[in-house]
Amino acid sequence: VAAINEELSGLTTKFGRNLLLSTKAFKIEVTDEAELVGLSDDFKSALKVDGEDKWVLTVDRSVYETFMTQSENRDLRAKMFDGYRLRASEGEFDNGPLAIKIAQLRAKRAELMGYKSHAHYQLETRMAKTPQGAEEFLLRVWEPGLERAKEERAAMQDMVGDEFQIAGHDWWHYSEKVRQDLYAFDDNALKPYFELGAVRDGAFDVASKLLGITIEPVEVDGWNPVVTAYDVKDAETGDHLGLFMVDMYARDSKRGGAWMSSFRDTSNVNGNNIRPIITNNLNLITPAEGEPTLMRFDEVETLFHEFGHGLHGLLTQIRYSTFSGVDGPRDYTEFPAQILEHWAGAPEVLSTYANHYETGEPIPLELIDKMNAAATFNQGFKTTEFIAASLLDLRWHMLTSEEAAEITDARAFEQQVLEEYGLIPEIEPRYRSQYFSHIFAGGYSAGYYAYLWSEILDADGFTAFRDTGDIYDPELSARLKKWVYESGGLREADELYRNFRGSDPTIEPLLKLRGFSEQQPSEG
Ligand SMILES: [Zn+2]
Repeated sequence: VAAINEELSGLTTKFGRNLLLSTKAFKIEVTDEAELVGLSDDFKSALKVDGEDKWVLTVDRSVYETFMTQSENRDLRAKMFDGYRLRASEGEFDNGPLAIKIAQLRAKRAELMGYKSHAHYQLETRMAKTPQGAEEFLLRVWEPGLERAKEERAAMQDMVGDEFQIAGHDWWHYSEKVRQDLYAFDDNALKPYFELGAVRDGAFDVASKLLGITIEPVEVDGWNPVVTAYDVKDAETGDHLGLFMVDMYARDSKRGGAWMSSFRDTSNVNGNNIRPIITNNLNLITPAEGEPTLMRFDEVETLFHEFGHGLHGLLTQIRYSTFSGVDGPRDYTEFPAQILEHWAGAPEVLSTYANHYETGEPIPLELIDKMNAAATFNQGFKTTEFIAASLLDLRWHMLTSEEAAEITDARAFEQQVLEEYGLIPEIEPRYRSQYFSHIFAGGYSAGYYAYLWSEILDADGFTAFRDTGDIYDPELSARLKKWVYESGGLREADELYRNFRGSDPTIEPLLKLRGFSEQQPSEG
């Protein structure tokens, strides 16, 4: 097993490097501006080479998505589409053989340890318990998701008419057109209602009401002048729970994305009670001098999300640091973060913090309704591409050692699996095997589905509050605090969830949230 681990570590590193190099190697140089028809001026100037009449297109995810959404140039979209999906698929950076080898070694290792497959080994301690359990769950969301995707495809075809058949490289572009048609909704209209300071106070206010804590600013020297710090206390006893430090802005020296981390873990051994130091990082763009920081609503949700992870770290009452806070099965640890996002968008919470930064006027109800309607848009596509990748991950890792040994072509295996589930050709899995670094170069093997699993929990958990008629219901809040935020990874995750909810989670709230339940109008 040690030898297998060593070989795997070399292969996964190589997988990641191949992907990076092949992504970097792909470039399309455009010298005729007419080719860039449809792109916004901002985006064009970001692509432009300084001092030359030349624009460079890459397949970095953010460039790719923006290009595919905006571009009116169908041929160039097709080229970009292939550039993206054929990364690390041939030549010196081909990850196909590596994916096969990694799957084979993992299957072999599982066999040596007495498991049927790598997925059986990985899932033993997760809430899903078995690969079949995870697969069944995925299929219950897959089916309505795929049906919805077919409706979305039909709506785009209606828009295009007989001119051509909608293909994969058209989806981003035409779904955006349909969206504008149906919802006439502009994210920028919302931004003045989401000023960073107000949003942060809104999040703190939710945490105080829900979890009985106080959050007060304190002077602490941070790692950068923009860092702010807060003392978090129990509202009833005044006990210090932890220090919370926040760094909201992007800088050149800072890695991208949003995350929570801890400078000092909590522990309580032999009467020595050490409380944690927890940080949240976002990457908002620093506004011009004297201007406010205005956020998109998805950034607001991210702030609540990371704050949820932060609260999980701050409130933990576990004695030993290995069990404290955010450690625990992966399909469960996202729950305390994701459930908090629901408060961000609840009308009764929005009415407290989402006020126009200049006029102080609260966000109009009509805008909230539009925002909610737009939230279920294109969910067929999003659900389908995500679950296709999740199923692919499971199937690679459900292989027994003998089955894995028979695979010779990664793409052929992938196609056979996806066809079996009925994936439509216009949708690619979120990741093809050759660039699925979460599972072949990261820690998510047989676990990519976990993002969706936590969504069942948060949708179901928030529904519990809604059902009481009070999103701060005292009894439920107390159980949420005790069994979720304070309990770390001490017990079985499904037991913790049951203690909070009073029952096992059901899948219906998730389907409703994505707009797949029957009560939802089927959009026309
Ligand atoms: Zn998270």
